[in-house]
Amino acid sequence: MRNKKRIPIPEEDKAKLFLWCARHCCFCGKSCTTNIEIHHIDGDPANNELDNLIPVCFDCHGELEKYNPDHPVGTKYRFLEIKTRREQIYEKHTLSYLRQVEIRISNFIANSRVQREVGDISCTVRTLSQDIPVKLRLQIEPYQGEKKIEFQLGDLYEGEALWNLNPSQIVYGHFGLPITRKSDPFMFRVEISWSIIDVLGREHQMLPFSYVWDNAINDWWYDPRVIFGK
Ligand SMILES: [Zn+2]
Repeated sequence: MRNKKRIPIPEEDKAKLFLWCARHCCFCGKSCTTNIEIHHIDGDPANNELDNLIPVCFDCHGELEKYNPDHPVGTKYRFLEIKTRREQIYEKHTLSYLRQVEIRISNFIANSRVQREVGDISCTVRTLSQDIPVKLRLQIEPYQGEKKIEFQLGDLYEGEALWNLNPSQIVYGHFGLPITRKSDPFMFRVEISWSIIDVLGREHQMLPFSYVWDNAINDWWYDPRVIFGK
């Protein structure tokens, strides 16, 4: 691993990482100003994936480098531990740029008590931001029973989409699923995975959730679990 050739980290990636931590060490959390370096977590200086990089102070850089697998002393830091600590520091310094987004699935036309046809589903996405834009990475996966199914209309919701949401933006949309009045209760579910990308380009992972179709009320229940997705 050590013999691998070092490949310089692109300047814009460096700038991004330093902005995300506001030049604080992502291991001990102290403010570093110019006394900061970027460590390759897996020890491979050619692996410049952002997930493999961590900005650290000189002391922590030494600490992370010094473990020798041939003569182990103490307990080495786990990659997961290092990355989780880094994410906590990034989160601390970018949280003020995070704006929430609301995603609602319903059988009703938005802002009304008018129901759509069975199988025609409202999907309303709105940013709660009043000031700065956000990007939403959105994936909606519909299931019939245990089987993943296709949308019947529109491609706005297909696959993994990156949405630009300016302040106060609301997107009223709808998609189709093969639901009829005779469909078995709770047979249809949509699982939603999403993250919000702030103005500094940092992605904040949100927890996935679901909506479940209920024939009895002709509408969707919010279900805080996911069964099939990630
Ligand atoms: Zn440190």
